[in-house]
Formats: sequence, structure tokens, C-alpha cells
Amino acid sequence: MVLVARAADFAARRHVEQRRKGAAREPYVNHLIEVASLLAEATRGADPLLVAGYLHDTLEDTSATYEDLEIHFGPAVATLVAEVTDDKSLPKAERKARQIATASSKSERARLIKIADKTSNVWALASSPPDDWEMRRIVEYVEWAEKVVDKCRGLNAALEQAFDAAVTQARATLNS
Ligand code: ZN
Repeated sequence: MVLVARAADFAARRHVEQRRKGAAREPYVNHLIEVASLLAEATRGADPLLVAGYLHDTLEDTSATYEDLEIHFGPAVATLVAEVTDDKSLPKAERKARQIATASSKSERARLIKIADKTSNVWALASSPPDDWEMRRIVEYVEWAEKVVDKCRGLNAALEQAFDAAVTQARATLNS
């Protein structure tokens, strides 16, 4: 509990300047809480998954370092967050291709985070698409997310169902 509360606090502070890309401009922390909630529901609160759920974007999108995470949350959480962090020195297309190529070799916990993250992102596109995203970009994102999640399946039916429901919702929104 202490670690989960600390992770929520740490993530909220580190992402304080960021918002979701959607038209509703939700605070970024809403995404982190949603990812952590999906993981908590699907796994009945298994640590360090829940802690890493809050922290999964801190290495990629904030100034937090691996050492910061190790000091505050321990090596298991730091390693897990690093495992779901893209190499930002690579071009975006390369990073996206790599996520598909490497997903099936990730740890079980990393794959669960991937599914929860993609679920939250696809929900966000369905409920509040970014103003400057053309329909085609949204369709492509959903298709890419499906490819990543397909490499992560077979671990947790509840989480996979949540993802599938988000995709169905996004498709319905796009077709309306
Ligand atoms: Zn995320």
C-alpha cells in the first residue's frame, strides 16, 4: 500500500505538465490511474505490477531516471518499467515496429502492462480523439495496438477482454 500510494504521488508529480492528446485534454495522470486500475482489477492487486502501472511512462516521458525508480521503488519495479520503455533515440516507426517484434519475449508482467496501456490508449481514442488526428491515423493506431496485444495474449483473459472491448468501441465510434 505504501509503495502504491508513493507511486501514484511520484507519477502525478512527474507527469504534472502533461495532458492526454485527446480533445478533452485530460490530465496525464488519468491515463496512469486507468492503467493501474486495469492491472489491479485483472490481477487482484499483484505487486509490483500495480506500482509499475503508475510508473510505466515515467522513463519514457519524464525526467525520472532508472536510478530514481530504483531508489524509491526497488529494483523489481525499476526493471519492469525499463522493460516497457521505448528507446527514444530510435525513430518513431522503428520504435513501433520494435514493440511488435519484442512483445512476446517480454516478461509476463511487462506484457500485462502493455495490454493495459494499449487498452487505456484505445479507450481514449474512442472517447476523446485528438483534434489533429485524421481518421486514418486513429485506425492505424488501433491496428498497431492490436498487433502488439496479439503478442501478449494468453496471460489474462479479463485484461484481454477489456482491450477487445476498447477496440470494438473505437471501431464503432469510427464508423459512426
Ligand atoms: Zn501509457
